[in-house]
Amino acid sequence: MIDFTRDGHLHTPFCPHGSTDPLHMYVEQALARGIKTLTFTEHAPFPARFLDPTPDKDSAMSVESLPLYIEAIQTLKRSYPDLDIRLGLEIDYLPGSESETLAFLEPYSDVLDETILSQHFLLVDGELLPVDFSAETFDTLVRRVGSFEEVMRRYYTALEAGLAFPWERLKVNRIGHIDLPIKYQANYDWERKNVLPEQTRLLQTIANRGFGLDVNTAGLRKPECGQIYALDIAPKAMSYGIPLVLGSDAHIAADVAAGFNDIQKKATFL
Ligand SMILES: [Zn+2]
Ligand SMILES: [Zn+2]
Repeated sequence: MIDFTRDGHLHTPFCPHGSTDPLHMYVEQALARGIKTLTFTEHAPFPARFLDPTPDKDSAMSVESLPLYIEAIQTLKRSYPDLDIRLGLEIDYLPGSESETLAFLEPYSDVLDETILSQHFLLVDGELLPVDFSAETFDTLVRRVGSFEEVMRRYYTALEAGLAFPWERLKVNRIGHIDLPIKYQANYDWERKNVLPEQTRLLQTIANRGFGLDVNTAGLRKPECGQIYALDIAPKAMSYGIPLVLGSDAHIAADVAAGFNDIQKKATFL
């Protein structure tokens, strides 16, 4: 059963590509929408020496911000003792930099409640290419690998390989937006059945590793997607015993729990 009173994927004013909406606005919106459990999952800083592959270099929080972010969420918890506010991070799965990510973030893991592991980049011929930065950079990725479906297959395969690392040390609890390339699906012809072998292998690995899935409504708000990330996969995931956690992926306070009602109405299997 999915908990519709829990929003497990929230960004904050510490996000360089987000908004300046203050944290208390996120909480007030959560209260207005009946949310009782909130996890703040700001983009974790990249390990030193890792260069942000996006044109704007704005993917993640700076390392200087991390202690301030932690302190801000801890203060917020004290301000709203009746709510279950959790301190988390959205940790990038960076193919080729797994050990650096683990070593760099492990000193913070004691204060974290739960984190999300998300893949935003794909390694193609030794070069990391952004998946969700823009329709243009995504199209470059499609051209480099040959097709949209090939992007999906590589996205799943890379993530599956990455799950061999001990992410539990960073309190990873679930995988973020597992089918993120669909953000631009309207620009391409594709069918999910053509990527099922890779998708199934990834789901089996997630189940074996004991991780959950972030059922992420941000896709609903993207014009070239129009769909909730992971929702198509949810029935299969449930059959494997994979827990599902809703996430709005809000980068503005108004988006906290956005689309949750929509799911409750449409997805009767949840
Ligand atoms: Zn973001
Ligand atoms: Zn993300």
